[in-house]
Amino acid sequence: MTDSKKIVEILIAMAKVMEENKEYLTDLDNVIGDGDHGINMARGFSEVEKQADTLVQKDIGTILKTVGMTLVSKVGGSSGPLYGTAFMKAGMAIGAKEEIDINDFLSALETGIEGVKARGRSTTGEKTMLDAMVPALDAMKNELAAGADPKSVLAAGVTAAQEGVEATKPMVATKGRASYLGERSVGHQDPGATSFTLLLTEIGKAL
Ligand code: ADP
Ligand code: MG
Repeated sequence: MTDSKKIVEILIAMAKVMEENKEYLTDLDNVIGDGDHGINMARGFSEVEKQADTLVQKDIGTILKTVGMTLVSKVGGSSGPLYGTAFMKAGMAIGAKEEIDINDFLSALETGIEGVKARGRSTTGEKTMLDAMVPALDAMKNELAAGADPKSVLAAGVTAAQEGVEATKPMVATKGRASYLGERSVGHQDPGATSFTLLLTEIGKAL
């Protein structure tokens, strides 16, 4: 079971990993986008981190909704509104709970992913964050259905997300800025799929 305190610890860890990978994500985005993904993610999560003391006093749904609103309002680019929507939808799915379990997490992630698809008018196979998110969710659901414990569920999700990132390399981008490159986007991994994998890895480490 995970409580508000643990959720806020995870958010702080996410802020740290986005800061550490700011250049890496920006370099990836330089190749097929406009070179700001790392800057966007680090800025968004550093704003979240600043709110940690207030957030920790809230229920989990409120925490995630607040994170989502912060990402939407503080981050430029597509990733702010897309990740922001994911967190807001996940927060709405969880509601006023003080503790969540792995089932709550997976259904919140599923709702969040649906939010990304709706907001981005996107789906898998288009070389976006969804190409890490969807395989990770599917792998975690399968692992849970097979009776695995939460830690193994997350481990399966991280592996599937990493494979999802690799799978974006041969894809032609058809959404977001990378779509301007068309065929020239082939051979390069998607920055948003990469950042999602880093974020999911932090959730896995925290369990
Ligand atoms: P921008 O593209 O506006 O500069 P970022 O560089 O921060 O914003 O984010 C780029 C990432 O956003 C891409 O790598 C991709 O994963 C994701 N992305 C862009 N457009 C979409 C979309 N329509 N649906 C899902 N993900 C998207
Ligand atoms: Mg960009």
